[in-house]
Amino acid sequence: MDMIFACPNCKQQLEAEASMAGNEIACPSCSTAIVIPEADIMNVRANALATSAGAKEEYHFKVPDHVEPTETLIQKPKPPLEVTAKDGDKKLRMKCIRRTDCVEVGKDRFDEIVTEILSNIGESNIKSITPLTYTHIDLGSRQLMTDFGVMIVYRG
Ligand SMILES: [Zn+2]
Repeated sequence: MDMIFACPNCKQQLEAEASMAGNEIACPSCSTAIVIPEADIMNVRANALATSAGAKEEYHFKVPDHVEPTETLIQKPKPPLEVTAKDGDKKLRMKCIRRTDCVEVGKDRFDEIVTEILSNIGESNIKSITPLTYTHIDLGSRQLMTDFGVMIVYRG
């Protein structure tokens, strides 16, 4: 692994193998005899910053064990249990539509009316749609009739 250090005499940046630490060399710039220092965090960091991302990873690997994780001084506020800021004023509601209520002069407008209600509520507000059946006494024939409808739960 390479490291970078400065000549103490002329401040020339020099590069050396970490394994050469302790060896005496002549500075190539000013010819002063200098001892190659031990690799430490400063010159290894300089190396990491001076070279490629690959060297950066190497630096990361060489971080000493005694470095403790930085303590978070400012605690982020915990997110509220229910994020309702966007549609906080909306309440959960339900609407039952019985098919018999949609029959006008013998014409079944059930599909049409449900479609209109759904588009008024808006797809994103709809929580559930439940089909239902019910019985009622037909006023004309006075017989018990079974019919169907739909229950829509929505926010609105
Ligand atoms: Zn020098």
